[in-house]
Amino acid sequence: MQLKDIGEFGFIERIRPDCLIRPEGVVRAIGDDAAVFRSEGDRLTPVTTDMLVEKIHFLRDAVSGFTLGRKALAVNLSDIAAMGGTACQAFVSIAVPEACPVEYLEEIYRGMKHLAAEHGINILGGDTTGSKSDLVVNITVVGSVAESKILFRDAARIGDVVFSTGWLGDSRAGLHLISNRIAGDEDFLKALIEAHLSPQPCLREGRFLASFPATHAAIDVSDGLTADLGHIMENSRVGARLDIRRLPLSPELRCFCDRFALDPVEMALSGGEDYTLLVTVDPAGAGEIARQFEADFGRPLFAIGEITTTGILERMDPDGSLQRIVPAGWDHFRAG
Ligand SMILES: [Mg+2]
Repeated sequence: MQLKDIGEFGFIERIRPDCLIRPEGVVRAIGDDAAVFRSEGDRLTPVTTDMLVEKIHFLRDAVSGFTLGRKALAVNLSDIAAMGGTACQAFVSIAVPEACPVEYLEEIYRGMKHLAAEHGINILGGDTTGSKSDLVVNITVVGSVAESKILFRDAARIGDVVFSTGWLGDSRAGLHLISNRIAGDEDFLKALIEAHLSPQPCLREGRFLASFPATHAAIDVSDGLTADLGHIMENSRVGARLDIRRLPLSPELRCFCDRFALDPVEMALSGGEDYTLLVTVDPAGAGEIARQFEADFGRPLFAIGEITTTGILERMDPDGSLQRIVPAGWDHFRAG
């Protein structure tokens, strides 16, 4: 059997048994954006880790060390954001092939430190080792969040409004440009490449949303809208309906899709790596939260759908018709 036969999530299910042998103090083990354990008083500690591997997640000749380092940290911060937390400490481990120059490694750390400084995060250590062929960067981030504020994937309730904190699909469009080596020589193309290479972790947005009791569940969009909403559905044992007319499609994505004859809705539904947050909010508080979000952040909080009793994911098309969607997205072992 190979990993591609069972997928990343099938593999996790196989290794999960017997991982938790001392459950005291563990609030969340495997299965959310971060693991969470109890620290002092009402404080909880979310911990997350993510690995970027050359030729799987990035091509060394297509990305600067600075951009790679920044993104490696950003994807971890996004998981802390999805818990409503503050990121505090980071640990960085790298496996370095002989041919990789020290200058490139220094640029990786410069990129990381740049983003870490923006969010007040220490880099406290890690490990450096050799690699036979590919560069590997693994980061672990330790955060902090009050127990009363933490957001999980399993807390969505029937009738909740589903929000996205930003555009969906831009990162996928940027990846298309990079993979096909299409020059981003116009502003809208540059913006899409930037969305893919330099995602902004929504830490402030996550804490803002977590401060309202009406906010129930959250996840960050790493695998793609339908895949990540699928995780909320599975963990919360609910269904969801996405309103296709209300998907947040950026003007840049629309231009890109016109130019390359691609479907922006498809990009937004299954693109991945947007690193916006999906949150589900009690409908009674949704309007006020969206209003305050827009006042605070100067951009809209996009209502894109609703949590339902159906147990399945559906899309409501502009003509009002409903179609079932099978949650899909990025699985590193299955992606071809
Ligand atoms: Mg996540």
